[in-house]
Amino acid sequence: MATTTSAAAQRQTGTDAIIQCVGVHKWYGEFHVLKDINLSVRKGERIVVCGPSGSGKSTLIRCINRLEEHQRGQIIVDGIELTNNLKNIELVRREVGMVFQHFNLFPHLTVLENCTLAPIWVRRQPKAEAEATAMKYLERVQIASQANKFPGQLSGGQQQRVAIARSLCMSPKIMLFDEPTSALDPEMVKEVLDVMIGLAETGMTMLCVTHEMGFAKSVADRVIFMDRGEIVEQNTPDEFFTNPRSERTRLFLSQIL
Ligand code: ADP
Ligand code: MG
Repeated sequence: MATTTSAAAQRQTGTDAIIQCVGVHKWYGEFHVLKDINLSVRKGERIVVCGPSGSGKSTLIRCINRLEEHQRGQIIVDGIELTNNLKNIELVRREVGMVFQHFNLFPHLTVLENCTLAPIWVRRQPKAEAEATAMKYLERVQIASQANKFPGQLSGGQQQRVAIARSLCMSPKIMLFDEPTSALDPEMVKEVLDVMIGLAETGMTMLCVTHEMGFAKSVADRVIFMDRGEIVEQNTPDEFFTNPRSERTRLFLSQIL
């Protein structure tokens, strides 16, 4: 099996694309959850994905690092096509970091250990080097002083900042966020969004499922609206918010803004 995609697929969606979804379909049993998804993300692009609950947002981003499997179409990440080829899956996962709604930190490990576990055991980094890198990212998310605490001793906002730092320790080329602030108390949302804004400023390619429309307006290059498994509309934040094209988008915006 080829480890990289065909030149034809590359041409179809543009050569500077780091993520390409071409005619992607997915079913959960009988349920058609993703319907003909075509999406091309350029290196350094910041994309916000929004849409009603159940519209397939999580499924889409989980397919991009193969936490879920699609059944039709192509998903190509940095030139590597996601198929059943385990080597390709591993190569893609090396490049893609993911931050979940519920942080998913290891509760029995300290903040520092959460950040060094994968670099030491998966990347075979020497412990001292992994710790130095972890401290650099923990400083960047302003939580270095908590490095020896356990996740349960931190607030939700602090835990989510650790989760972001932990992902960054694996030097991803792409960061996927699945509603990273929706489990947080309102006063903690800003501290996490500020970290994400800082990350965007470094040029990271970001695909963020979020309903934080202030974040979308200030950071996103493009907003994608999904409904019932389809990409209904995509546009610059300016156009998306001031001039939504479809009735479904208008209805959604009227409910959340
Ligand atoms: P969103 O993130 O937009 O809320 P999801 O991608 O989580 O939507 O889910 C889309 C639809 O797929 C929902 O109707 C959900 O119930 C269904 N679904 C999600 N995960 C599974 C699963 N593992 N098995 C069956 N159905 C699922
Ligand atoms: Mg979801």
